[in-house]
Amino acid sequence: MSTTPHADETKSAETGGSTTHFGFKTVPEAEKVKLVHDVFEQVASRYDLMNDLMSGGLHRAWKQALIDWLNPPRGPRAYAHIDVAGGTGDIAFRLLERAGPNAHVTVCDINSHMLGVGRDRAEAQQFAGRVEFACGDAETLPFPDRSFDSYTIAFGIRNVTHIENALADAYRVLKPGGRFLCLEFSQVSVPGLDAIYDTYSFGAIPRIGKWVTGDGDPYQYLVESIRRFPPQERFKTMIETAGFSRVQYRNFSGGIAAIHSGWRL
Ligand code: SAM
Repeated sequence: MSTTPHADETKSAETGGSTTHFGFKTVPEAEKVKLVHDVFEQVASRYDLMNDLMSGGLHRAWKQALIDWLNPPRGPRAYAHIDVAGGTGDIAFRLLERAGPNAHVTVCDINSHMLGVGRDRAEAQQFAGRVEFACGDAETLPFPDRSFDSYTIAFGIRNVTHIENALADAYRVLKPGGRFLCLEFSQVSVPGLDAIYDTYSFGAIPRIGKWVTGDGDPYQYLVESIRRFPPQERFKTMIETAGFSRVQYRNFSGGIAAIHSGWRL
């Protein structure tokens, strides 16, 4: 379905510095984190509303499927989970609704504006004592080795500059026996749906973004970044290369989204 080749990091002939992709643009590698940060700073206050509008509410079903597959323990044992690129806390709250009373979730994100919206939601939903919000980069998480029983990242990893580093750090912070799950937009596998999806995403999503937030550019980036993300099989190999075992994935809505699962043995 992809309309553009997946670009890997390259050396810039002019500057000699490394470059990477930011949507369909090529940018100096060192600038990508700031560009991504600015996108989410701009959309933070309308992020949750936009998710519903753009996906017609489907993101809720995909997130619920992630929690179902994780299947956190419901009993009284202590359970530590990290949700990376956790933004406004959607995955954290769903997990806490499902898990036992001694489950604790750390939401980690590079963007303090997204985390701020999440903190307000946590207080409103009375989860405040069971969730904490930490600012940090998925590539260099500010937590010791072997800290968490499980790790999720939903619609976050495609924004990270070096996906391999984020996967390596996921492995590092998980305890042996810990579970990794990633929900991400992926490659559509249903003939015909790919063309409809391309038309909708490139035609409608930036327009809806402009209508709701006043600026379509962040949503143009989001659509482009989805097309740059490795397809299911390639991403599965990347997860295996990071050291995870029993890696599998499930497609949702014809491959518009996929969940990859792996274990640190
Ligand atoms: N996981 C949430 C959800 O599913 O609703 C938020 C997803 S939002 C599309 C992507 C999030 O990734 C943003 O909150 C953004 O700040 C965060 N992010 C982007 N790059 C990151 C990085 N390198 N490290 C941690 N978070 C990052």
